[in-house]
Parts: sequence; structure tokens; C-alpha cells
Amino acid sequence: MITNKLEEKLELMYHKSITTCTDKELYLALLHLVKEEATARGTHSGKKKLYYISAEFLIGKLLSNNLINLGIYDELEEFLQKHGKSLSHIEMVEPEPSLGNGGLGRLAACFLDSIATLGLPGDGIGLNYHLGLFKQVFQEHKQKEVPNPWIEKDSWLTKTARSYEVPFKDFTLTSTLYDIDVIGYENKSNKLHLFDLETVTEDIVKEGISFDKTNIKKNLTLFLYPDDSDEAGHQLRIYQQYFMVSNGAQLILEEAKERGSNLHDLADYVVIQINDTHPSLVIPELIRLLMKEGIQFKEATNIVTNVCAYTNHTILAEALEKWPIHYLEEIVPHLLPIILELDKMVKEKFDAPSVAIIDEDERVHMAHMDIHYGFSINGVAGLHTDILKNSELKNFYEIYPEKFNNKTNGITFRRWLMHCNHPLTSFIETRIGNGFKKDAEELQKLIKFIDDEESLKELLAIKLQAKVQLKEFIKQNVGVTINENSIFDIQIKRLHEYKRQQMNALYIIHKYLEIKNGKKPSTPITFIFGAKAAPAYVIAKDIIHLILCLQELINHDPDVNSYINIVMVENYNVSAAEKLIPACDISEQISLASKEASGTGNMKFMLNGAITLGTMDGANVEIEELVGSDNIYVFGESSEEVIKHYEKADYSSFDLYKKDKHIKEMVDFIISDDLLTIGNKEELERLHKELITKDWFMTLLDINDYIEKKDTAFFDYEDRMTWAKKMLVNISKAGYFSADRTIEQYEKDIWHLQPETITK
Ligand SMILES: *Cc1c(COP(=O)(O)O)cnc(C)c1O
Repeated sequence: MITNKLEEKLELMYHKSITTCTDKELYLALLHLVKEEATARGTHSGKKKLYYISAEFLIGKLLSNNLINLGIYDELEEFLQKHGKSLSHIEMVEPEPSLGNGGLGRLAACFLDSIATLGLPGDGIGLNYHLGLFKQVFQEHKQKEVPNPWIEKDSWLTKTARSYEVPFKDFTLTSTLYDIDVIGYENKSNKLHLFDLETVTEDIVKEGISFDKTNIKKNLTLFLYPDDSDEAGHQLRIYQQYFMVSNGAQLILEEAKERGSNLHDLADYVVIQINDTHPSLVIPELIRLLMKEGIQFKEATNIVTNVCAYTNHTILAEALEKWPIHYLEEIVPHLLPIILELDKMVKEKFDAPSVAIIDEDERVHMAHMDIHYGFSINGVAGLHTDILKNSELKNFYEIYPEKFNNKTNGITFRRWLMHCNHPLTSFIETRIGNGFKKDAEELQKLIKFIDDEESLKELLAIKLQAKVQLKEFIKQNVGVTINENSIFDIQIKRLHEYKRQQMNALYIIHKYLEIKNGKKPSTPITFIFGAKAAPAYVIAKDIIHLILCLQELINHDPDVNSYINIVMVENYNVSAAEKLIPACDISEQISLASKEASGTGNMKFMLNGAITLGTMDGANVEIEELVGSDNIYVFGESSEEVIKHYEKADYSSFDLYKKDKHIKEMVDFIISDDLLTIGNKEELERLHKELITKDWFMTLLDINDYIEKKDTAFFDYEDRMTWAKKMLVNISKAGYFSADRTIEQYEKDIWHLQPETITK
């Protein structure tokens, strides 16, 4: 009995009983208990193994999820409650690991969960950033960054005996490996391997998150995405990337040999999924290591090409890494002859400069190396993969059509339904049983309750309950009291102009001005934001400033604050998402069409009964196909049209601003006296100017259509029973977005870890 084990653990660790233990003591006891249980159940094994290499793993807190996956959550919760404790309180003392930035890192975490759940041998490889990305705090309506230390003496990390030498030009570093158990749902475990360096010290961090970027031995694993606005910052990223992949490659080869590989047959033992371009140096590094083992360059290159697969996450040029060759020369000169040779072979075969690895400016294109020297390249949603094939990577698609494939992203339902929304989970369970937990497609059985008034009412009651809970969280996080009977309109995601938080802010200005002019909404609305901006991304920070100024203005204006409220939660992260998503009525997925590769926030919201307001972008397209046009609010220019605008360079925000009086009114409000008395002139003026002179992501192109569709959604919300039906349709169709489905497709089309079975 797990409850007996807990009591024994508490006795051993603290000589105390449950009732007298603090939440922190209970947390630590449970942490050790979970680690022991995971070890006892063992790890997945097999001849061939997957390694998922990623700069980010946004894993979130682990206690509740691990208990769910071990199948002991309910039993423990009941036992704890009997003694006046509860897991939701205990988990508040758990620090949230800060090993990721946004969707890409969260995807990696969801994938690890599904890989272990499906029984596949597959480990994650990454870095153990001591201070994570950064913690966001708001001061004077602005984002400030502070370090986010998350590693405590007792943590989910387990120090291992593995250690490797990683050579750089001027010195060699010795790594330490820490592992985190990735427990499959009712299954065995895999590992998340996080490499670290013992000489790294947090005390070199000065005010904010600044530190000496040249002191590699002390700074290497301090931060994820250290500021790269200068040369030292760029170079530090290369140090980090090479440290990650060299350790990873050494681990992979060592384990392959342990499993019986003679290295010539490596592809029978290993597949490596390269998550975005940050781990791309694993390709030349593996070739180098194989050559050290006596394999000739040509064969080594073939072996590596048969082992590596690459996932593309974006078409934004700024995110496709290109490293000046002289940086590599200064940091990892031993990789240079290999990269030069790989480039030479490409240039011998293909004339087009657009497919070269090294361009005319002597920069190494990481994605190009991945495509030439990997066997698979996948996009992350149908539309995104089509754009890769037909425009962004067209020249590569023509060379290697067989390498291109789509894997529409997914999310783990263990975290994004069973853990974050217990009432909805039991609502589903009582109606269609337990099967959906292992086969998410079974959610479709819910559709037979579409005309069942009782069920629809209960669904609305569950949503209201989640909104009341979120109200409590927001009271504590933001210090604002919101109205649980208002419409909760939520946009939570990294701050980026292409995601168009600024368009949402303009809508709020529109609504504010309407109310001021006497047109009042019949149902109040609460606009909720959560977003971190990259520390060096000036306009993104200006947008946060605008939102925080609007929050101040609107929430304190008695003419409007009973109709609309606006709150921006501080330090948006996985735990915040788990509270926000179940409470959402309208899910804002309003990126400029063609720019959001997939999105996964959109899937989490849908699964929790929110209705999407979105553009035909990323996986929104697939959501629309699944739920039908009555159950989603679509607006905006199509991706084809947007791509044409870029090609022709014919979009002018200034024209729209001049021609359309209403647009001018909304945009000019950014520099109105009302806002300037609250905010900072320089920042608001810069944002205003950006919107009317550049507006690179075409906010003003879609703003009118957005306002119209959003008003329609708010109007439709009033018919509660019709709305509840839309909710039920969305939940019942969300099964497609289970990461279990995505991983089954990776396994079937790319990884081939298990011998093929005839029937699924
Ligand atoms: C899911 C998730 C994301 C990704 O959200 P998108 O809307 O798809 O960009 C980012 N951050 C956190 C904490 C998440 O849970």
C-alpha cells in the first residue's frame, strides 16, 4: 500500500506523522517515494532507442503528474484529505523547473510523457540550466527579468556517475549528468538526461540577469537563451549547444555499444530527433566521434545521415540559426574540417546557393545541414509542412521529397486534462468511462450528450467553478478582483509581434471607447493575458507596457470597469497555464496566418471546453476541420494571401491607418493623454510608430475582421445552452491532438523503434 509507504517515509525522514508534517515535508517525502516507485517499475528497453535532443524541456511541476502516471494519485489524495492535507496545497511548495521558453519546450515535455506512456525506449537530452529562462516581474508597468533558481537540495534530479570530456579550442570541460525520471502513464519510465558543469556558479550574476558572458567555466549552464544581442552572447550559445550535443553524442555512442552496436550498424540501434536547430551540431560531432573510432569520413557521414531526423518549428527567418564560421573556428575548431567537407559535398552536387550549408557571407546554416545530413524533416502541423514544401524550403523539397513529412503537434492529456481539470475529467468518466485516458479518440463518444440538457448544464457549472478558482489565483497574482460571471477571454503565450497581442490590445481600446460612448456590452468581459518577452526584444516589451497601462486605466475607470476588466498575470509558466486554461471561455489564437507553425496552447484550450477565436494558421486549421465552422470563430486573411503580401511587399499599415478613421482612433489611443499619464512616453510612442510605419505582422490588415468576429463570439456566448454545445463538440473532437497520436506517427513514419505489428 502506497499510503503505508508514505507513513514509513515520514517516520524515517522526520519521525513525524502526517498531521504534524508541513506541506514541504510531505512534498519531499512524496518526491523520494515517487523516485523509488519509478526505479522499482524499471525503464523501457529495446534494441533501438530514441534520443530526443532539445535545448528546452518545459516540464512543469512533476509531483502530481508523476502520481497520476504511477496510478496512485487518487489513493494518496484521499488519504491526505483524511488527515487535513491535500495534494493541491502540497504541490504549491514545489518549485517549477525553468528549462524552457514556450511551445517548443513544452512540446518536448509532452512528447517525453507520451513516449514513456506508449512503452517506447526514448530519452531526452538537454542542459541543466540553474537559473532557467528568467522570472518575469512587473515594475512600473514594465517587464523586469530576475534569475529563476529552481534547483533545491532534494529535487527530481538524480546525480549520475556518467561524465564526459568536452573539448573546446582553449580548454576541455568535464560534464556531470543529472537524470530526471519520465514516468509513463501506467507504464515504465524513460530518462531526461540533463548535462551540467560543476564549476558553474550563480554568484557571477549581477543586477537583473546580467553576468560576464566570457567566463564559460562559470556561466555555461546558468541560463537558457542568454542574451545574444552581442558577440559574446552569440558565442556563449555556441558553447552551450556544443556542450549539449557533444555530451549527448558521447552518451548515445556509449549506450549503443552497451546494447551491442559495432557502430557501423548504429542506425539499427539509435535514432536521434533534433528538436529545432539548437542541437544541429550533433551531426558533425557524431561524425567526428565515429572517425575517432576508426570509421572513414564517408561511412561516418552515411551512418549519421541514417540516424538523425530534424523537426522544423518555424519559418521566421530570425529563428533559423546561422552561425558565422569564424565563431565555430574560435570555439570548436575540430568541427570545422567536417563542416567544410559536408558543405563541399553539397556544393559539388547542387548549384543553387539557396541549399548550401555555408553561404556567401561565411555563415553556417544549421537547418540546411540537418536536411542534407538527416533522413527526415518534419513540420509540426499540416499547413506549416505545406508552407515548408511549397515556399520556405521548396528548393530542398525538390531535392529530397521523400524526406519531408508532417507530424501535427499534440499535448499530453495526463497533464492538460486529468491533472489540470479534475471536475471535467470526472464529467467525462461518468459518461463514457475510462477508455479515453489511453485512447483519446474515445472522447468522440461524448457527442451523444449533445442534446442532453443535464450534461450541458453540468459542463457550464464546471466552467464556472474553474473561473471562480482562477479568480482566486488572479487576486493573489495580480491583486485584481475579477468577475466570475464575465466572459473570460484569454491570450497566454510568449510575447511576439506575429502572435499579435497588440491586436488584442487594440480590440480592448475599441471596446473601451465604445463603452465611453455609451455602448455597453450586455455581458461583462475579462481580458486575460500572460506572456514573457525575450529580454532584448524591444517592441515585445513595449506591447507588455501597453497592456499593463491599459490594465491600470481600465480597471480604475468607474465608467467602464463594471463592463470590462483586463489582467496580465506575472511570470506566465506551466503552473499558471494549468489554472488559466480550464477557466477559459474564448481562446485567442490570432497569429498572422502562415506564421504560427502549429501552436499547442490552442489544443489545450479546446480540450478544456474553450472556443477558439483564431486565424487559419497552424493547427487552428485542423481544429476547424474537426469541429466545423459553427464551433470556432475564424477571421483574417489567408496564409496564401499573406505570403503574397510579403512577396509583393504591398502591405502598408500607414495606408490603412490614414484611410480608416476607426483604425486611426484605436491606434492613436496608444499615445493619448489617458495612457501617457500612466505609462512611458518613449515606449508608447515607439510602439505607435512601429504600428503605423512597419507593422511587419500586419495587425491592421486583420483588425476589422477580428473586431467583428470577436463581437459575434461575445454575442453568441449569451445563449448559454448553444454555447455549451459548442464546448462539448470541442472537447469531443480534441482526441486528435493527444501527443500519444503524434508519437505513434513519429514511431510509425520516422523512428521504427519497435518491430512493426500488422494491426494497431
Ligand atoms: C502550451 C504552452 C505554450 C505554448 O503556447 P502557444 O499558444 O502554442 O504558443 C507556452 N508556454 C506554456 C507555459 C505552455 O504551457
